[in-house]
Amino acid sequence: MSDIHDIIILGGGPAGLAAGLYAGRARMDVVLFEKAMPGGQILITDRIENFPGFPEGVSGPDLAGWMAKQAENFGLKTVIAEAKAVALKKEAVGYFAVKLEDASEVKALSLIAATGAGWNRLGIPGEAELIGRGVSYCATCDGPLFRNKEVVVVGGGDTALEDGLFLTKFAKKVTIVHRRDRLRATKILQERAGANMKIELCLDSVAMEIAGKTRVEAIKVKNVKTGDVKDIKCDGVFIFIGITPNSAIFKSILKTDDKGYIISDDNMGTSCEGIFVCGDVRKKSLRQVVTATGDGATAAVSAQNYVERLKGVEYK
Ligand code: NAP
Repeated sequence: MSDIHDIIILGGGPAGLAAGLYAGRARMDVVLFEKAMPGGQILITDRIENFPGFPEGVSGPDLAGWMAKQAENFGLKTVIAEAKAVALKKEAVGYFAVKLEDASEVKALSLIAATGAGWNRLGIPGEAELIGRGVSYCATCDGPLFRNKEVVVVGGGDTALEDGLFLTKFAKKVTIVHRRDRLRATKILQERAGANMKIELCLDSVAMEIAGKTRVEAIKVKNVKTGDVKDIKCDGVFIFIGITPNSAIFKSILKTDDKGYIISDDNMGTSCEGIFVCGDVRKKSLRQVVTATGDGATAAVSAQNYVERLKGVEYK
């Protein structure tokens, strides 16, 4: 069993890192696999104001770095590699085999799925063609490129408003295009957007096309109530229209809802015994850093109990 870890965590966002912290402190043999850099979506979040303990807010990259360091201090090993497939193997002892991008295989008695979610695309003409040439999904990364320029944000949720407000630090005008007559975002963000002279709302409107020869020049929007179509001239289009769970590698062995979110019980247990889930990839009502870390802690303790039960060393 020496090449079989106790726990493998897939995904290094706040949920995976919190799971790693708890599993490390339980002295589990735990390895976390992350395809890019630990931190997940908060790596591209300028400021987080609703993670308890930071009265002035905290920078996303700083918080991610501290979470990773804290987990590492308690023994979490992190490997930068993407998991491509997951299988349950029933040999002398049941274990999970995870195939990595280089086709090598790593094994564990228990898995924690913390693979998060990715940004959705609009799928309209011009979007794919102009990515990196004015079309962006990351205000923190690309906002400074739009100093004194005009940008459009598509979406009406927390990300659209939070990142739209962030963009006003650079852009001279930010137009928020949203398909309904009111915004989905939390009220405090709506108040701030309403009070910001640089922000203009374009409600009841859907984006139809992004135009530009070599760079973004305009976005065509249609008013869903009047049917009027207009071009909004702009230098950049930021798209924040929600997320899709990164659950593809679990689809064959775990139950998900119709959107692909993994279904779990109160202890983060999934439809497959031994696999636990946490963070944005889990079906739940509130996706925040604070709920992701709570999920991660619970998933780690559940995985620990499961592994210790398998080994016959649980504390009864
Ligand atoms: P979201 O809450 O799902 O909002 C997506 C927005 O995009 C909605 O307004 C939606 O419109 C719109 N939309 C979806 N598909 C569209 C399409 N095809 N065309 C045009 N508009 C479309 O996503 P999010 O804002 O990225 O947030 C994701 C999660 O992270 C949420 O749980 C959010 O609370 C959380 N989050 C929290 C914070 C924070 O606490 N500070 C910050 C960022 C994100 P409808 O409203 O009409 O559905």
